[in-house]
Amino acid sequence: MESIKVHLFAPGVDAGGVLARAQFAGLLLRISYGDTRLAVPAERLTVKHGGFDGRQWLLEWPGEGGTVAVLLPSSAEAERLLAGAPAALAAQLDRHGRRDRARSLRFRIGFGLVGAFVLLPFILLGLFLANADRIAGWAAGQVSLAQEQQLGDLAFAQMRPSLKLVEAGPAPAMVQAIGDRLTAGSKYHYQWFVADSPEVNAFAMPGGYVVVYSGLIRTADSAEEVAGVLAHEVQHVELRHSLKNMIHGLGWRALLALAMGDASGGIWAGMAEQLGGMAYGRDLERQADLGGLKALKRAGIAPDGLVGFFARLAQSEGAVPAFLSSHPATAERIDNLRRAIAAEGDYPAAPLPYDWAAIRAAISARSAASAPPAR
Ligand SMILES: [Zn+2]
Repeated sequence: MESIKVHLFAPGVDAGGVLARAQFAGLLLRISYGDTRLAVPAERLTVKHGGFDGRQWLLEWPGEGGTVAVLLPSSAEAERLLAGAPAALAAQLDRHGRRDRARSLRFRIGFGLVGAFVLLPFILLGLFLANADRIAGWAAGQVSLAQEQQLGDLAFAQMRPSLKLVEAGPAPAMVQAIGDRLTAGSKYHYQWFVADSPEVNAFAMPGGYVVVYSGLIRTADSAEEVAGVLAHEVQHVELRHSLKNMIHGLGWRALLALAMGDASGGIWAGMAEQLGGMAYGRDLERQADLGGLKALKRAGIAPDGLVGFFARLAQSEGAVPAFLSSHPATAERIDNLRRAIAAEGDYPAAPLPYDWAAIRAAISARSAASAPPAR
C-alpha cells in the first residue's frame, strides 16, 4: 500500500515534530522525511492508542538519543496501514483493537464532529506554535502533583552526575534550614542542594529540587541574600514555572505524552541538561520576585536580600553572572522589588542566625581544595 502522512517526533528534531511518510514493508516500518530514511524492525515498536479523539495511534521505538515517536492521524488510511502491519505487531494491535471499534461506533453517531476531531491535533499544533506559552500552561495543568514529582525525580537523577554536590558542612545545612523555613506548609517536598561551581547561579526543578551553586554563596554578602534567592527560586516550583518550561521545551511531544496518558515515559529524557540554563520570561520573573517577598515575610526573614544581591551584581565589573543573564531586565526588577518592599511596610524579622564568615570560608576552602593544581 501507499505510504501515509505521519508526524514524527525525535531527539534532535524540532520540538514541534516534522511531517514524514510511513509505510510497512515486510517486517520493517519505513519512514522518510527530508533526506532521512529510517527502517525500524516491527518487533522494536511499541504501540500506543488514544489521543485527543481517542482514535490516534502512536508508534514508538528507542532511538540513539532517546525515544522516537510517530503519530498516525486518526483516519481510515492509518487503519489500513496498521492492517498491513507484520505479525510481530498483531498482539499489541489486538489489545487496542476492541476498544477502538467501540470508539469508532460512537464516532459514526456524531459524524459532523468527526471532522473537527480529526483536525483537532493539527489545530492544537498550530495553536502550540503560535501560543506556546499558553498551551504549555494548559498542559502543565494536566500533570498531577505525583506526575510532576516523577518528572522532577527523573530530570534530577539525570542531572545529578554532572553536579559536584557539597554533601555536608555549614553551607548545605544553612541552605536546607532557610529553605525549610521558606516552604513550611507547601504541598511539595523540597530537596535542597549546594553544588560546587564558580557560577553565580541557582535553579529549581519541577517537584521541588532547588540547587544553589557555591559561586552564588561566595558572592552573597549575607545569609539574607541567599534567602532572597531561595525564596525567588521556590516560586518557580510553587507556580509551576519550571514544569511549564519543561513542557514548553519538549513541545508537541509533551502534549502527546499527556494526551496519551503517559506523563512518565522516556519522552522526558534528555531534558535535564537544559534545566540549569533555563530562562523564564519577564512576567514569570516578576511573579517569582513578588511571591518570594511574601514567602520571606511568612518566614520572618528580612525582605531586602534579593534586591541587595541584584543591585550589587548589577554594579559589579566583569561578566554578567548566569543568574542575572537568565533573569532579564535587572534595573526594572530592582525598582519593582524596592517598590513592593516599601508598599509592604516593615515587619518583625530577626537576623538569620548563621556565622556568615564561617560559611563563606568553608565553601571557599572546599573550592580551593577541589581546584586543579596550577601549572
Ligand atoms: Zn527566576
